[in-house]
Amino acid sequence: MKRKEVMVLIRKIIHIDEKRCNGCGLCAAACHEGAIAMINGKAKLIRDDYCDGLGDCLPSCPTGAIEIKEREAIPYNEEAVKREQESPYLPGKHGKNTK
Ligand code: SF4
Repeated sequence: MKRKEVMVLIRKIIHIDEKRCNGCGLCAAACHEGAIAMINGKAKLIRDDYCDGLGDCLPSCPTGAIEIKEREAIPYNEEAVKREQESPYLPGKHGKNTK
């Protein structure tokens, strides 16, 4: 079987400090790409390629738990986001998935 190569680069991407997260879910609701989901009462970045690194979620966070960092990540994938947005099973939709 042929291995698929995955491109990784240094880019801006959100980082969520779990200790500061109160589980309100506002960031997941604010993320247009569905990159954030609520898991066990905490916000998680569920897919690097769904995060465009623009930080639309930052102003929604009442505790300042989210920041933009630069780190290795796969590139933002607009096509994957579009496919997910058309799916009724978007994990982060409205931030109420597994809370
Ligand atoms: S908005 Fe902030 S406090 Fe609320 S779930 Fe997201 S990271 Fe946690």
